[in-house]
Amino acid sequence: MPNLIYADHAATTPVRQEVLQAMLPYFSQQYGNPSSLYRLGRQAKAALEQARERVAHCLNASPEEIFFTSGGSEGDNWAVMGMALAGKAQGKHHLITTAMEHPALLESCKFLEKQGIRVSYLPVNSSGFLAPEQVEAAMDQDTFLVSILYANNEIGTIQPIPDIGAICRKKGIPFHTDAVQAAGWLPMDVQAQHIHLLTLSAHKFGGPKGVGVLYCQKGLPLHPLIHGGKQETGRRAGTENVAGAVGLAAALELAQQDQALRCRNVSEKRNWLEQKLSALPDCIVNGAEPRLPGHLNLSFPGVEGESLLLYLDAQGIAASSGSACSSGSGKPSHVLLALGRSENEAKGSLRLTIGEELSWEDCRRLVKVMESALEFLRFDAP
Ligand SMILES: *Cc1c(COP(=O)(O)O)cnc(C)c1O
Repeated sequence: MPNLIYADHAATTPVRQEVLQAMLPYFSQQYGNPSSLYRLGRQAKAALEQARERVAHCLNASPEEIFFTSGGSEGDNWAVMGMALAGKAQGKHHLITTAMEHPALLESCKFLEKQGIRVSYLPVNSSGFLAPEQVEAAMDQDTFLVSILYANNEIGTIQPIPDIGAICRKKGIPFHTDAVQAAGWLPMDVQAQHIHLLTLSAHKFGGPKGVGVLYCQKGLPLHPLIHGGKQETGRRAGTENVAGAVGLAAALELAQQDQALRCRNVSEKRNWLEQKLSALPDCIVNGAEPRLPGHLNLSFPGVEGESLLLYLDAQGIAASSGSACSSGSGKPSHVLLALGRSENEAKGSLRLTIGEELSWEDCRRLVKVMESALEFLRFDAP
């Protein structure tokens, strides 16, 4: 059996060795609760605060603006619901987002709609992009938040975040971005990009699962969602995930250090794969540049996406039909529908998201397997 080809980095990434090593002491010798007053607790608290400082440095933020969470879903929920509660106190009930957000953001918005919040889901063009002017046109006196995905998890398209941020700043409306896919690949500077709230998740950039960050600019009236103890300056209760925070900080630093090199390496292979695979019969490429370096989303109308994944799996290739959250649901991707793809095209989609461990030999094998998969599945089709 040949080695596993892991082409699903947008679903999760392996924890880097250095990250694991940095975390280990906080599971064993350094097991203190950061809220405890004795030395063991103070040491845990020091590690947590050091992790906060390192994350703040990576984002060009202050440590008191960094809140550790349980991951990307919590960050997205907290940003929109916490700001909705703050907006309600000011008599504001309108939220602007896009039709191609991650489900963590979209479902939070749908929940808020049931609570009487008005949500504008801005459309994107057929390549998956939003124009900053659309955001400005949707704003009114009632708008309490703009939330726009930095880079899309399914097709990788990158939105003009600094331009949208500048408009929000001009209009005095807080701006949240889900930067879960962007971290480790794209620039992240909350000041230069005029970002008020930003969501991260460690497991998407070589860190552990179950830990994330919500950056919240000083002075923003974000309401807490998790009530209890006074952790995270009273804004998020619960004993802190010290090992997770340390791992997240280490992973973010490492990802930023070798970012340029990794982007070049990965995009070169992605471009080669795109050239080979898009030449296959009836192939449609979903999304366009600017796009994340490792993302390649393809539609093969008439081919069942799930069958393609099972075929690839049997050959030792891990890929996705869209987002992990919607695979198995049998529903076509809301992102591909937002681009104007038909249900048939959206159902025959394949998402490859590659990482730096992928070799040229792996790339060649991937193309070969895809060729035989399509021949087999198309022949099989009724
Ligand atoms: C994975 C992902 C999330 C959810 O993050 P979890 O840590 O898995 O909860 C949110 N947004 C985007 C864009 C993602 O890719």
